[in-house]
Amino acid sequence: MNKPCDRVALVTGGTRGIGAAISRRLAQDGVLVAAVYNRDAGAAETFAKAAARDGLAVSVYQANVGNPGACQQVTAQVLLEYGRIDYLVNNAGAVQDRTVVKMTTLQWEQVIRTNLSGPFFMAQAVLPHMIERGSGRIVNIGSFVGQTGRIGQANYSAAKAGLLGLTKTLALEAADKGITVNCVVPGAIMTDMVAKLPADIIDAVTQTIPMGKLGTPEDVAAAIRYLVSDEAEYVTGALLPVTGGLLMM
Ligand code: NDP
Repeated sequence: MNKPCDRVALVTGGTRGIGAAISRRLAQDGVLVAAVYNRDAGAAETFAKAAARDGLAVSVYQANVGNPGACQQVTAQVLLEYGRIDYLVNNAGAVQDRTVVKMTTLQWEQVIRTNLSGPFFMAQAVLPHMIERGSGRIVNIGSFVGQTGRIGQANYSAAKAGLLGLTKTLALEAADKGITVNCVVPGAIMTDMVAKLPADIIDAVTQTIPMGKLGTPEDVAAAIRYLVSDEAEYVTGALLPVTGGLLMM
């Protein structure tokens, strides 16, 4: 352990899109952030440089959350460097869209692995440490598609629906250990994941949003900020939609 700190957050997929906004928001609040990326080392480096320029305490780590060994390894690395993990934000996500008839077994399994098994593997890695300390916050990032379904996203919507069950079970198992587990459920948020959709699809989605506009990564980051705060101590097993009214629970 060489850099002791008051609060440490591990944010998966923390160097791009919504994850980057979460990392920056928490770092602006004085949290030391370990942001995990997978394939895009260039984006991670650009993100780390910009954060350093802005005086934010953010370090980047590589790990594929679909690999349980890599989840254990990155957790051990962060614990070794910072001595603690207060917040785990399971934000990493990926899509591989095809209708069910055309979807390959590999596309099904890879998306389930990243979006559902990843948060399970990360929770397995981090929970023993949180239990030992008697405190912690886990926030999973779901999707409105997990509640509504969407053509071409059987793998993704099933994973995100499963994440709600995982959130509630983890919340029950951790409730008497000083650890809260919640799920933020974003609607359509303007990031790379959405920008690569055809413009007519983005327009069609926007028209279904009661507020009439896409959300921003910062809208989602603000919800995470609340759920990891001391004020949210009694909130666990909750699903918090950030959807501009697209999904109400
Ligand atoms: P982006 O595609 O912009 O970013 C995805 C992030 O996840 C990247 O940092 C990527 O890292 C990381 N990632 C992907 N696969 C893995 C993996 N196997 N292991 C570790 N990291 C991985 O996505 P968004 O910011 O749009 O989405 C973030 C979260 O929000 C996801 O869980 C998504 O499902 C959810 N969401 C997004 C919505 C939207 O409208 N954007 C709507 C609802 C939910 P790298 O690039 O290095 O591979």
